[in-house]
Amino acid sequence: MNYNSTRNSSVEKSSKFAIANGISQEGGLFVPCDIPKLSLKQLESMATASYKNIAKTVLSLFLTDFTKEEIENCVNSAYTSKKFESDEIAPIHKLSGTASVLELWHGPTCAFKDMALQILPHLMMTSAKTVLDNKEIVILVATSGDTGKAALEGFKDVDGTSIMVFYPEDGVSKVQKLQMNTQEGKNVSVCGINGNFDHAQSGVKAIFTDPEMREALDKNNMIFSSANSINWGRLVPQVVYYVASYCRLIKNGDIKAGDKVNFVVPTGNFGNILAGYYAMQMGVPVNKLICASNSNNVLTDFISSGTYDKNRKFFTTVSPSMDILISSNLERLIYELCGKDDKTVAGLMKELSENGKYTVSDDVKNKINEVFVGGCCSDEETLETISNTFKKFNYLCDTHTAVAVKVYEDYYKKTGDLTKTVIVSTASPYKFAGDVLSAIAPSAVAEDEFAVIDILENATGTKAPAQLKELKNKEVRFKMTCEKEDMQKVVLEGLKIN
Ligand SMILES: *Cc1c(COP(=O)(O)O)cnc(C)c1O
Repeated sequence: MNYNSTRNSSVEKSSKFAIANGISQEGGLFVPCDIPKLSLKQLESMATASYKNIAKTVLSLFLTDFTKEEIENCVNSAYTSKKFESDEIAPIHKLSGTASVLELWHGPTCAFKDMALQILPHLMMTSAKTVLDNKEIVILVATSGDTGKAALEGFKDVDGTSIMVFYPEDGVSKVQKLQMNTQEGKNVSVCGINGNFDHAQSGVKAIFTDPEMREALDKNNMIFSSANSINWGRLVPQVVYYVASYCRLIKNGDIKAGDKVNFVVPTGNFGNILAGYYAMQMGVPVNKLICASNSNNVLTDFISSGTYDKNRKFFTTVSPSMDILISSNLERLIYELCGKDDKTVAGLMKELSENGKYTVSDDVKNKINEVFVGGCCSDEETLETISNTFKKFNYLCDTHTAVAVKVYEDYYKKTGDLTKTVIVSTASPYKFAGDVLSAIAPSAVAEDEFAVIDILENATGTKAPAQLKELKNKEVRFKMTCEKEDMQKVVLEGLKIN
């Protein structure tokens, strides 16, 4: 099976090409030509299969140019009980008669980005062997927090790769900074910049596209690549947990094979929920995909009006990983729904970059509304939901998950829909311990992040992930900061090729 570009349907590349290159030459995103199918019988027969085995089945249907051994090696290296808390990988917690929570944060960095970034380096190296003549891959990441750490953990000590992460020196939380600056591994480096996330991001983009930089890398048998969520290699591993959660619900007797389910997804860049859409196209019986946003509710408005308009105030919220106004992966959905019309997609994306907005046709809007429901909530409602969910269900959720819980509650009140529902949980509550504690015990005072973690443990009777508590005693390896103009120099010196 090959991959088209959303902006040029005549592009046909192998999955290895798509993963190694990340983005198509004319700026489009790679999408599968056909979506492979899973029958109900297959889903039923996978009810008791391990996460690894479900991953092998799903990945081999999409990545047809990988050999069976290659898929097995990638999956076996990524989803181990050494890296994840248990072999379950993505456990399901039953909340009520209708709702269950799918916990995607039992990996090394306590956020759902691990689900894809633990396997992406292996998919990428396997691809590079075939399509990049064994060049060393240099991953550059600009991060506002979660992606940087997850990418560092994924690529650490992976032969044939090196990774450099830039973060805004004053724009990430103390825990996030410590998570990155204490990173282990011989092929990693981390640098704070004097500037904000946009500066880091445009600095990385400038380095990617600079012809002299490319030449310097080429001479040294190296090539840049990207680990952000427009890479197909980050999306396809996310399809797996939608399939796996459906299989688990069958196993647990919550549903019979064939019953429809809803998924509620806390959404930013639209990568996670789009993977749910692909799972549905594969044959997982889905009633609604519920897209949950915080105050940056550009997607809620798009789903109800058909107009995507990023010209609006940007809010900094308690669910920072969803503070985003351009949801890049929406481009892939629109391509599917407008009948793979590359000209239409290219036109809409041009409007987005020139005017910051576009409107889809009535036909596309209707197709979106057949499957997707949008909803949003404020910070106040988010914190209230954390507190209520703990009181009502004795379940502690993080700020991003709370947005999904609240949007689901609103949906349920409005529709009375009794369809079994999976709420996708994207981070450990301890990764955003300060805000979570302020919801649970508003009067608690703590002198630092580690005290917050201790107080939250005592107040809730839950346990913080060891890797967050251990940060306190870890050696800080990276103290480097640079001016935003000097990022290029830092990269060349880091690679020792200047
Ligand atoms: C990245 C992230 C999201 C948003 O996921 P998208 O795939 O970008 O929609 C939600 N929650 C957390 C905790 C995240 O790190």
